[in-house]
Amino acid sequence: MTLSKMRASGIHTVERVCPQCGCHAIIHVDGLPGGVAVAELGKGVCCVNCGAAETHTQPNWRECESRNVTR
Ligand SMILES: [Zn+2]
Repeated sequence: MTLSKMRASGIHTVERVCPQCGCHAIIHVDGLPGGVAVAELGKGVCCVNCGAAETHTQPNWRECESRNVTR
């Protein structure tokens, strides 16, 4: 999935999860080009908590869900 597709779904943030320590981080990606794949955002990004060399990134689906609740 690319950022442009994610935005089309109403999601403007990416959740970064560390596979090693499980910490979560929310990244605002409105400033990044739409052609960037969500999965690529975690490549080469070290975990700020435990220093793991690579983290997983996924669309922040919770942002979408919380909007559905308020609707
Ligand atoms: Zn970590």
